[in-house]
Amino acid sequence: MYVLSSPSGAGKTSIATKLIGQDPLISMSISMTTRKPRPGEVDGKDYIFVSKEEFNKAIENNELLEWAEVFGNYYGTPKEAVEQKLKTGKDVLFDIDWQGTQQLHEKVGKDLVRLFILPPSVNVLEERLKRRGQDEDHIVQARMKEAANQISHWAEYDYVIINENLDESLLEVQNILNAERLKRERRVGLSAFVRNMTTRME
Ligand code: 5GP
Repeated sequence: MYVLSSPSGAGKTSIATKLIGQDPLISMSISMTTRKPRPGEVDGKDYIFVSKEEFNKAIENNELLEWAEVFGNYYGTPKEAVEQKLKTGKDVLFDIDWQGTQQLHEKVGKDLVRLFILPPSVNVLEERLKRRGQDEDHIVQARMKEAANQISHWAEYDYVIINENLDESLLEVQNILNAERLKRERRVGLSAFVRNMTTRME
């Protein structure tokens, strides 16, 4: 399980989308949210858009792996979809904030690899938020403030990437994923393979 966190506007969604498009072994976790869809966002693809009542019901029924309030809206990870993906042998990528990352880390420990994406500068972050044009001005300002809060949690992550260039950052994320997949404790069947090899050598 991989988590990508960043302040909004640092380029996390672009990295995640490209990664999913190129790597058939990884699947995106689709979160549930009470936020209203932005223009172009598709229900069931970008998010599962729900009412506050539906979200509360999901919490009560223990259907969420983690959840948090961000910018006055609620966001959470539906548990069953993640379990299904993991069962079929896929890795799962989460685009969630630091609060959700802490909760997941408490639940699954080493099975979670945490990546934090930083913008190259404050100016670039502000530009990206404005250029995106999906949110009103006062929301952009609120998100700049919130960005400082998000960034204050950078040291809780295993890897930190400074996103100057999308292609370079994507490559760095891919390198991290590949190295993590090659870790000894994640290599299913490796000890049997080595045992078989060494007994034949005796
Ligand atoms: P946005 O509204 O820009 O799509 O997302 C706002 C923030 O909520 C982002 O930092 C995003 O990572 C976070 N977020 C999205 N889905 C989830 C989720 O399921 N759980 C948590 N904890 N945060 C989420």
